[in-house]
Amino acid sequence: MPFDERAKVWMNGTLVPWQDAKIHVASHVVHYGSAVFEGMRCYDTPKGSACFRLDAHMRRLFDSARIYRMDPPCSLETMRAAVLETIRANELKACYIRPILYRGYQTLGINPLACPVEAAILTWEWGSYLGDGALDQGVDVRVSSWSRTAPNTFPALAKTAANYANSALIKMEAVVDGYAEGLALDSFGYVSEGSGQNVFLVRDAVLYTPPLSASILPGITRDAVMTIARDLGYRVREQMIPREMLYVADEVFLVGTAVEVTPVRSVDRIPVGSGARGPVTAAIQRTFFDIITGQVPDRHGWLTYVYGDPHREAVAAPHVARVP
Ligand code: PMP
Repeated sequence: MPFDERAKVWMNGTLVPWQDAKIHVASHVVHYGSAVFEGMRCYDTPKGSACFRLDAHMRRLFDSARIYRMDPPCSLETMRAAVLETIRANELKACYIRPILYRGYQTLGINPLACPVEAAILTWEWGSYLGDGALDQGVDVRVSSWSRTAPNTFPALAKTAANYANSALIKMEAVVDGYAEGLALDSFGYVSEGSGQNVFLVRDAVLYTPPLSASILPGITRDAVMTIARDLGYRVREQMIPREMLYVADEVFLVGTAVEVTPVRSVDRIPVGSGARGPVTAAIQRTFFDIITGQVPDRHGWLTYVYGDPHREAVAAPHVARVP
C-alpha cells in the first residue's frame, strides 16, 4: 500500500487524520462518478520541495468543474494554498498530490445539482508508475480494443472520475495481456492517448502528438514536453495520427504526471525503432528531469516552492508538528 496512514488529508478547509477522511456511501460520487480531480507531483530540488506546474493543474481542475456545472466550495486560490499546506502538514519532500472536487450526500437521483460539491486533497509518496526500469528501458504497449470516448459523449478535456471507467478498461486489458499500458484510438480510429498519459511519436526528428480534438486530456506534461522539444530545436506537430504510424515511428514515448517521460519499446509486439530508448526521447527526458529536479534554471516558471521561495530568504519554512 503506498499510503502513509499517519498522514493528514485536507477536507473542505481542514486537515483531518487519514482515518477520518471519509464520505457516506450514499454520496452521489460513489454511484455516478461525479468528481473532477487532478494529479500532480512535488519534487525534491536543491532549493527545496517544488510543485510542478501547480497553477496549470489548478486551472484545469476548475475548468473541469465548470464543464460539469460544479460550483467549488472554495476559490482556486484557496485550493492552491491548501495543496501547499497539505504537503507541509505531512512534511513531504517529494510526493504525488490528488486534489478532488466531488458531489456529496443529498439525493441519489441522477441529477447532481442538489448534491453539495466537496473538496479534498490527498498526498502520498509515489515512485515510478510503470515499474523499475521503465524510464530507461521503455515499456511494451498494445493498441487497445477499447476506443477513447467519442466527441460529445464524455468531455475529454475534463478530468472527471467518470472518464476513468474507460481508462480502467484500457489498462486492465493491457495488463492482463502482458503489456504495461494500452494506447487507445479515438472513435474515428486515430491515435488518442494511453489510459493515463499522452503520447508522442518521433519520425525523422519531428515530433508528432494528437491534437485536443482526438479525445485526449489536455496533459500538462504534454504541454511542457512540447515546450521543451521546441526549446531543444525540434519541430512539433499536433496532428491526427493514423494507427500504423506507431509501427513505423523511430521513437514513441508516453508523458504524464505519473509516467513523467517514459519510452515505449514496442507497440503490439512490433519493436519501436531499434527497440531501445531513442535519442530524441533521451534528450527530452534529460531536460525534463533537469527542470523538475532543479538542476537547470526554471525558465518557464513551472516550479512552486512549497516551503518558501528560495529567492526570498525572508520566507522561512513553517514548522509543522509531525502527525503522530
Ligand atoms: N491523459 C489521461 C487520460 C490522463 O489521466 C493523464 C494524467 N492526468 C494524462 C493524459 C496526462 O496529463 P498530465 O500530464 O496533466 O498529468
